[in-house]
Amino acid sequence: MSQSNSSRRRFLKILGAAAVSVPLAGVAVRSARAQDLTPLDLSNPTASALGYVEDTTKVDAAKYPQHKAEQDCANCQFFTATDGGRGTCQLFPGHTVAGKGWCASWAAKAG
Ligand code: SF4
Repeated sequence: MSQSNSSRRRFLKILGAAAVSVPLAGVAVRSARAQDLTPLDLSNPTASALGYVEDTTKVDAAKYPQHKAEQDCANCQFFTATDGGRGTCQLFPGHTVAGKGWCASWAAKAG
């Protein structure tokens, strides 16, 4: 076996290991971030201002006449599911919101 064949094999092994480890590192980072998230507190000033509720059936219809029964965080464009029926919302970094929640910034998911 020539020296260049051996070097190429070593390079391909390293490349293969990197191809496996980089995506796994991404999963680990995402998991660590998910663990750092805290449930959105209803007393959060922005949550309160937007009328956020953990249960879309509890929305004050008089205060938010635009609300429709089928609207919830899970079908909002700002929501990304995590686990346990919760997910992240782009409006509330560092927190999770309930998939069945709702706030006045609800916007339909595209597509
Ligand atoms: S913006 Fe959408 S995902 Fe975020 S809290 Fe409001 S309804 Fe839920």
